[in-house]
Amino acid sequence: MNKCKYSKVFLAAFAVTLAQGCCDDEPAAPTAPAEQAANEPAKEAVASKANTDKDRRKNRSSGEESQSNISQSAQPSWGSVRLPMMNSGSARAAVGTIHLYKVWLGRWDSQKQQRIEGYLETDLAFIAKDATFYDKSVSFEHHSATLGGFRTLTDNDTQPAEDYDTWTNVLGQAYNTSPKALTADVSKRGGNGWVLLVFGDQVGRSFSSTANGESGNMEVLIFYTRSPHYTNGLRSIIDTSGHVITHELLHVFGAIDLYPTDTFTASQANLAKGMWPDEIMIDDKTQPSFRIHGYTAYQLGWHDRWDKAWNGLKPSDTK
Ligand SMILES: [Zn+2]
Repeated sequence: MNKCKYSKVFLAAFAVTLAQGCCDDEPAAPTAPAEQAANEPAKEAVASKANTDKDRRKNRSSGEESQSNISQSAQPSWGSVRLPMMNSGSARAAVGTIHLYKVWLGRWDSQKQQRIEGYLETDLAFIAKDATFYDKSVSFEHHSATLGGFRTLTDNDTQPAEDYDTWTNVLGQAYNTSPKALTADVSKRGGNGWVLLVFGDQVGRSFSSTANGESGNMEVLIFYTRSPHYTNGLRSIIDTSGHVITHELLHVFGAIDLYPTDTFTASQANLAKGMWPDEIMIDDKTQPSFRIHGYTAYQLGWHDRWDKAWNGLKPSDTK
């Protein structure tokens, strides 16, 4: 059961959409720092910025000086082909300054917590480094809170459907704020977006989700320290390694899974694997290290050059 779902739920009553990126239920070797592969797209100058970026800066009030100082490398690039998770939620893209609102659910052993923080640091450095290959910059500001009283999340094989309300509630309890207020605050401080990172020292399938609701947009990553692993239909529980955070974070910034899902066929997955065996969104556990290749980089807002060779890799919900 390595396959995870990419599902969309539309709840008309609340005008909420949830697009779940998916999950990882197996451990793998810790992510090694990526090496620039010889066949990767060379570092290319990014074309002059789209009008939308200029307009957005223009619309900011004069009191928000820092906004106009955001370098072009901190602005996302968008091409004409729109993949389903691109440019959604408050973080929109893996560029600029992203605020990470960490919530530690329940009681934690401090050593274990440090280990998870270590995974996170490694994974954030990996993402930041690969961004530079596209002349983009991304940095992360950390906020941390514990939520001892919150119920533990349920361990079931389907992702929780109540995401938006659940995570709004978690954000409210941990930081006493709402998605809308937080988005405004982060924007005022010159941040490009924020992500809610929820850590549970329990069994579960880590996943990420983009929730766009009436009260604001949010992107959530849930990381469980122990994952259920299925072998011949039987479940065992295995500690989860760090690279899972990278994979899930890239979902948060717009990347799709490149293994078979509800919207990405097995033959598409084979095609992707042939092109990029070590791509992190393929998540092949046999790879010693991972890379963020051009197709995923496109979805992260790192470049706007759609390659014809990727035409067969559009998921069925591509707009
Ligand atoms: Zn995934």
